[in-house]
Amino acid sequence: MSKFDVVVIGSGPAGYVAAIRAAQLGLKTACVEKARNKSDKLALGGTCLNVGCIPSKALLDSSYKYHEAKDNFADHGIGTGDVTIDVPAMIKRKDAVVAQMIGGIGGLFQANGVTSIEGLGKVLAGKKVEVTAADGSTSILEAENIIIATGSIPVAIPPAPVDQDIIVDSTGALEFQSVPAKLGVIGAGVIGLELGSVWSRLGSEVVLLEALDTFLPIVDSQIAKEAAKVFKKQGLDIRLGARVTATNTAKGKVEVSYTHNDEEKTEIFDKLIVCVGRKPMSNGLLAPDCGVNLDERGFIFVDDHCKTDAAGVFAIGDVVRGPMLAHKGSEEGVMVVECIAGHKVTMNYDCIPSVIYTHPEIAGVGKTEEQLKAEGVPYKVGTFPFAAIGRAVAANDSTGMVKMLAHEETDRILGCHIIGASAADLVQQIVIAMEFGSSAEDIGLTVFGHPTLSEAVHEAALAVNGQAIHMPNRKKRK
Ligand code: FAD
Ligand code: AMP
Repeated sequence: MSKFDVVVIGSGPAGYVAAIRAAQLGLKTACVEKARNKSDKLALGGTCLNVGCIPSKALLDSSYKYHEAKDNFADHGIGTGDVTIDVPAMIKRKDAVVAQMIGGIGGLFQANGVTSIEGLGKVLAGKKVEVTAADGSTSILEAENIIIATGSIPVAIPPAPVDQDIIVDSTGALEFQSVPAKLGVIGAGVIGLELGSVWSRLGSEVVLLEALDTFLPIVDSQIAKEAAKVFKKQGLDIRLGARVTATNTAKGKVEVSYTHNDEEKTEIFDKLIVCVGRKPMSNGLLAPDCGVNLDERGFIFVDDHCKTDAAGVFAIGDVVRGPMLAHKGSEEGVMVVECIAGHKVTMNYDCIPSVIYTHPEIAGVGKTEEQLKAEGVPYKVGTFPFAAIGRAVAANDSTGMVKMLAHEETDRILGCHIIGASAADLVQQIVIAMEFGSSAEDIGLTVFGHPTLSEAVHEAALAVNGQAIHMPNRKKRK
């Protein structure tokens, strides 16, 4: 029986980061991964690298370049002639990006001395992990500590069974070999909007059917309202209050039935993407006597330090509570192994940025205005439009705004929400500021390079206290 200080199950961004940091800390570490890629090789990197963050961004970037060349280059005086898209070549490039990133993880495992073990992991009682290889043979690993990082899988809904041909999930939507003339998307959440944007930019007529009446309820409502306007202008047909009740595939198309404002409606699509959320991957993972428990929603139950109910067994990433985001899982991985190594590390769950990689991007950190109102926290707001930022105007990319929220009395930044080009990178400045307990005034007194998009962050912080320079202030300076 092989013995390790740490056995990690799952090699996604939660698991592989935990494994690498554990090895850096001198712990004898193994990482068990079951997934195989299209070429039937071990696929490290989890959802994120194989069928999530990385491939979706590769397609978002390709489709954005196509859209820019086709529709916006002329504004800069650049003539292109006929711009065409070779979808199989675009998908091949995406696959090459994924392969490169997966290879990178294998290299990092080797460089750090992490033992990579291929197979299906199962947590047994007494801190043992059973690994079932592809040929069905089993082996047992003994571990001082087990870290479960088995991630999540797409939620399936009975009215729209996925066949990965006409009705696909997010994984299938990364593999289309041609542009569907008419594309349906069930769920106008983060993944639905990103994938809908990819195919819309390439020429699909895209309809998003969203059961909720509110658009992007997790986003600050001022930003969500702006996003709805922008997406409509881009041609995304987002139907709120539209609940899919049935689908019928025939002759290479799918007829979708849905209720919309109490009316029964149907629509025919060439392809349908089901993006109604993701659920934790805990099936068959836990021996009944291993002592690890699930919460009422099927997530592995953990405390603030990702400890499960079984001593020496931890769980991190999408398989536990909290936002299903790669960076959240990675930081949990670091926290857990640092604690195993005897260091006292906690994670600030109030300061996790979230991003929707549409164009413009939508990014936020901290509380939304609605959350502050609901919690009765006194706050002040500063907003600043990119339309007043020279660099954004020069780039012909000035849609959107930065919104900053600070405590009414202490001026401490409580949240920042951005819709605009590079919002994901811009919001990170405020993630750092919030980690350091910054006030809006601190950001206002900081020197920002000119001309940059960052100046919108600076001006929004100034606007919190009625001191914006390049815009009339609603508040008078005290
Ligand atoms: P996963 O990445 O799901 O990895 C879990 C791994 O465990 C998998 O490789 C799986 O095969 C393996 N495994 C499961 N069970 C076992 C077992 N019993 N034995 C062995 N191995 C096992 N997040 C972002 O932060 N930014 C984004 O831009 C973003 N874009 C996304 C786009 C799409 C289309 C999708 C689907 C997701 C996206 N996400 C994004 C979410 C992100 O992918 C997840 O939050 C992240 O991958 C979770 O990491 P994880 O390590 O917890 O789990
Ligand atoms: P997210 O949670 O960001 O992945 O978004 C998933 C979205 O799918 C949510 O906004 C859900 O409201 C939506 N959804 C779930 N079931 C259905 C359904 N049957 N029809 C339409 N939308 C749905």
